[in-house]
Amino acid sequence: MSKWMASIGLEVHVQLKTRTKMFCSCPAHREGEPPNTQVCPVCLGLPGALPVMNREAIRKTVLTGLMIGSKIPLRSSFDRKNYFYPDMPKNYQITQQAAPLCMGGSVDIQSAGTLKTIRVNHIHQEEDAAKITHLANSSEIDFNRSGTPLMELVTEPDMSTPDEAIAFLTALREMLVYAGISDADLELGHMRCDVNTSIRPVGTDKLGVKSELKNMNTFRGIHRALTYELKRQMDTLEAGGSLVQETRRWDDAAGVTLSMRSKEYAHDYRYFPEPDLPPVILDEAMIARWRCELPELPAAKRARFIQDYGLPEYDAGVLTAERAIADYFEAAAQKAGHPKAVSNWVMGELLRALGEKGQSIAEARITPDALAALIALVEKKTINMPAAKEVFQILFEQGGEPEAIVKEKGLLQVSDSGAMEDFAEQAMAASPKVVEDFRAGKEAALMFLVGQVMKLSRGKANPQMAADVLRRKLST
Ligand code: ZN
Ligand code: MN
Repeated sequence: MSKWMASIGLEVHVQLKTRTKMFCSCPAHREGEPPNTQVCPVCLGLPGALPVMNREAIRKTVLTGLMIGSKIPLRSSFDRKNYFYPDMPKNYQITQQAAPLCMGGSVDIQSAGTLKTIRVNHIHQEEDAAKITHLANSSEIDFNRSGTPLMELVTEPDMSTPDEAIAFLTALREMLVYAGISDADLELGHMRCDVNTSIRPVGTDKLGVKSELKNMNTFRGIHRALTYELKRQMDTLEAGGSLVQETRRWDDAAGVTLSMRSKEYAHDYRYFPEPDLPPVILDEAMIARWRCELPELPAAKRARFIQDYGLPEYDAGVLTAERAIADYFEAAAQKAGHPKAVSNWVMGELLRALGEKGQSIAEARITPDALAALIALVEKKTINMPAAKEVFQILFEQGGEPEAIVKEKGLLQVSDSGAMEDFAEQAMAASPKVVEDFRAGKEAALMFLVGQVMKLSRGKANPQMAADVLRRKLST
């Protein structure tokens, strides 16, 4: 990309996590319901049915705007976007065009080690369409999804590489999940993306002719499609050809983008104000109250973990990637009082065990309190590390109290000096050659003897104490 620079903009549709649909009281879309069972005259688009606004959807969209620093106009309104397609039998989609709920805002991304601010143009509210499945000789329509609340977040074309586009989507997804705005499960289509891309010669300002890739819903697909599309545009221009503004489709199997149709323009949709819905009127007090409900965002939490718990940046990043993990860490750290030890256990044993079982932290049997108690036993040298790991595994699989498990399994660390003296003497008597080596100055020989003591105590000796006792005996 030496001669050319790319501009990438995204239109991200996000399925909001609400109980009911956008304009009726049918349950909001979930996978797995039998087709066309979660429907009513409103979301089927029957003539004469009247929409009623979902307050919770409005609140979640405004919360998103507040998170990214949008301005929230006190008045916004709905419009009809007219088009003819079987997924929308009333022949228009209720959306917002003239006066969206959130204006402006931005999301900071980190890509290739640098921080970049991606501006957001606006966020508007709309309804989802039905789902069409095309078969060999027919098509099937499922209206369960029809009328599900969506928000559409439209960025400025501020990204210049596929990596930056993915970094933006990752940061956005993380925020939405944190704040409970959306489950943002890409596989289930909770986040669907239209990607606009154009290139222009380096050093010029005017954006080039753009193409739009429709309905992308995997990060990997978006990355591949963008990489392909940027190269296609570059090759076309360098071969002396010209580009047309058009909508293209990504064929994942073939790894190419294909022209679908020349790009439609806003005026093709004959937008006009929705007469069946009143404007959305918000007031400052309500917005202030909603602002208070915002959770601490990942970036702020990371900074606080570094500051308050003295954690390395790496630990803070791992622990805050998921809100439930961060909450778990905090609960355990406050109880145990050894934040770095807690961080090591959570990032090490806990995430490993969860990964092995394919479980989420909500399913783990070990409570933050139990982990804190386990760490306290290690810190007090009541048990040694191998024993602690054994106890951890039992807590993880069955739950329970660490102290009780330690007693039941006889894992108490041997710190009793009488027993330790015996083990040390047995170890030395069994390996006279090693004893000689040590006395001749071979320091490593000590570790062998400590290992023997650990074996004799069946793993329960305090290794530091074993080393001390051995060293004392060997030097007499
Ligand atoms: Zn309905
Ligand atoms: Mn849309």
